[in-house]
Amino acid sequence: MDTAAILPNNRVLVIDDDPSVAAVIGRIVRRSGYDVIVTADPADFRQRVRSWSPGIIILDLGMPETDGIELLRYLADEQVKARILIVSGFDRKVLEAAQRLGAARGLDMAGVLTKPVRAGTLTEALKNIDRDASAVTAPRILQGLLADEFYLEFQPKIDIRTLQPIGVEALLRWNHPELGVVPPLDFIPVAEETDLIHRLTEWVLETALRYQREWTAKGLNLTVAVNLSARVIAELDLNVVVSDACARAGVTPGSLILEVTESVAMGGVEKSMDVLTRLRLKGIGLAIDDFGTGYSSLVQLQRLPFSEVKIDKSFVMDCATSKDNAVIVGAIVDLAHRLGLRAVAEGVESPEALRLLAEAECDAAQGFFFAPPLPADAIPGWFRDNAVIRLD
Ligand code: C2E
Ligand code: CA
Ligand code: CA
Repeated sequence: MDTAAILPNNRVLVIDDDPSVAAVIGRIVRRSGYDVIVTADPADFRQRVRSWSPGIIILDLGMPETDGIELLRYLADEQVKARILIVSGFDRKVLEAAQRLGAARGLDMAGVLTKPVRAGTLTEALKNIDRDASAVTAPRILQGLLADEFYLEFQPKIDIRTLQPIGVEALLRWNHPELGVVPPLDFIPVAEETDLIHRLTEWVLETALRYQREWTAKGLNLTVAVNLSARVIAELDLNVVVSDACARAGVTPGSLILEVTESVAMGGVEKSMDVLTRLRLKGIGLAIDDFGTGYSSLVQLQRLPFSEVKIDKSFVMDCATSKDNAVIVGAIVDLAHRLGLRAVAEGVESPEALRLLAEAECDAAQGFFFAPPLPADAIPGWFRDNAVIRLD
């Protein structure tokens, strides 16, 4: 892969108060094919960061006038996107602590090297920086959040009996300046490994509800569904977060649906039960997402206070041509109804699939046949133009 196109640029800024070390590092980096500026002066460094926008910064931690931590804070305040390599004579533990500190502030920390640095080690480190320049990492996600690179799309949901649109599902998107639009399945699992998933979830809730209030003000009455990772349910004080977000947006809890994927039991059944039940008591809808796959199982259905079953698209997409999938879809709808839950099909791509779902008495549907996920500002127009879905 041509990573040079993904690193923001070919420029490397080196700061080290020892001129001879700085010169050596500069020479090695230049030999690796980068443009290099070497400085020993923190003020000059700050100015170069702003005016020259390096793609990689090589930072010495211990300098007489300022220390590396201060410079890291400066870089974080400036929301610098460069990959940062710490090179220093300190103990490795200190360097790693500095690395974590930088990462926590949203900097793209590329690693630490202890002095004296051998030419081969530095060359290798630069190669690695190049190689994983295109990787989705937690610091990049945090940077993206701070830089406003995330946005939501909304996919309409239709009542199968009346053929009227009834709501939307919010789907998270990340428009990375170098990587392009990153699909949620590429970054959500990464965010789930850290507390970032909490920040992302809060952002999604806030943003989705803000749109919902806008749409309500325009006379559009629709439910908004938000996806939740199982981890968030057990760990985040979701009850409070959701109530606060609803209150701030002036949205009634009844028009919010939370779609839960994976094993809810993962984070502890007791806690999840407690949180989900309290949310239900507030009138918030709860959907078990991707039903029929992976951990989304009958055990969950029986234990937790869901109000809706979302039939996974792998069964729905070709239910009109696959007899097996038609049987599965019918059985899930039946199961949902017997348990007193609504059945919703995702991945409806054809009128034939819709007809089959209607015969099975499935309640609601969503899929490319009606609309793909749409930008938020297209929603009012779409709902106006499609007040009733026409099948001819
Ligand atoms: P999901 O909740 O099952 O969302 C439905 C996915 O199916 C979406 O993919 C949607 O674009 C796609 N889709 C919709 N209609 C059709 C259709 O007719 N045919 C086919 N083949 N696909 C259809 P997307 O947007 O890439 O999202 C993938 C998954 O990422 C979602 O699956 C959800 O699990 C997760 N996700 C998205 N946004 C969030 C979020 O805000 N938070 C969390 N935790 N997960 C999210
Ligand atoms: Ca979903
Ligand atoms: Ca799904």
